[in-house]
Amino acid sequence: MPLPTPDQFRAMIEAAAAGRFAYPAVNVTSTQTLNAAIRGLAEAGADGIVQVTTGGAAYLAGPAADPVLGARAFAAAAHELAAAAPVFVALHTDHVPAEKADGFLRPLLAESAARVRAGGVPLFHSQMFDGSTLPLEDNLRASARWLDLAHAAHVVLELEVGVVGGAEDDVDGTRAEPERLYTTSDDLLRTAAALGAGERGRYLLAATFGNVHGSHAPGQVRLRPEILRDGQEALARARPGARFDYVFHGSSGSTVAELEAAIGYGVVKVNLDTDAQYAFTRAVASHVLDHWDGVLRVDGGLGDKGAYDPRAWGRRAEAAMADRVAEAAEQLGAAGRSLA
Ligand SMILES: [Zn+2]
Repeated sequence: MPLPTPDQFRAMIEAAAAGRFAYPAVNVTSTQTLNAAIRGLAEAGADGIVQVTTGGAAYLAGPAADPVLGARAFAAAAHELAAAAPVFVALHTDHVPAEKADGFLRPLLAESAARVRAGGVPLFHSQMFDGSTLPLEDNLRASARWLDLAHAAHVVLELEVGVVGGAEDDVDGTRAEPERLYTTSDDLLRTAAALGAGERGRYLLAATFGNVHGSHAPGQVRLRPEILRDGQEALARARPGARFDYVFHGSSGSTVAELEAAIGYGVVKVNLDTDAQYAFTRAVASHVLDHWDGVLRVDGGLGDKGAYDPRAWGRRAEAAMADRVAEAAEQLGAAGRSLA
């Protein structure tokens, strides 16, 4: 199945909002983890999203360590590999902080705009601008400028209002004031005033409600998904018929009840990173522990090529991560609902 067109991607978002489900958005850092994510979505019969952070993109670029190069290489591989899947796989770039946005978003959006002008599809279906470290008015002013550029390239913009706690790649929310982890209805109405509610270009909104990147001991994170409901109600009062399409960052370790509440209040994209990373690496550890005398050349022995061939542990790792992605698709209600 070719990747969704921009219209088909918008139809995916509409279907999720109308059907009260959400897409898993799986962070990947290699073609192995990309294939694992595609496989998990296909196994679940779910459409979904694969995404890279700027740090993941820099890693993908190998010795060049250039996030733009890595993002372009990722997109090129994904356009080929995802086309073989029976479901729609959309491509996204995750957090880019304000100070890095010019060097990352601008060239990628320019390339998408050129591709669209030539009758093709954009490089990415959506891209995030994370201005959450800026004062809100500055964040919204910058987000509105990026929305114009993204819209012109047929790309959906994701922006963040509030701060996600914890740390992930270039994003460090570990020192955020606790109250900044929670968006307010007033913040959300100011967002709609600055960016519209879809008429100036579609955007996805990472409105924070206590989310934290990474995994945490039970009780350490206090999610308040009702913040999302209150924001929808405030928006509907201000603009009848309008809605926010929310994104849930830091989902790893959340309870089913928390996920269901957030999706019920309009979350259409749920990022999955930490748990997918762990599933992949846990399987590698199992392989090494199960076959230690094959993966190692012990006491002058030869080891076992069948055990140390990177495909041997790679296949186990991909299968384990695919299972976790399929589980996420089930939990989020996306399984069996592909529009492809
Ligand atoms: Zn995030």
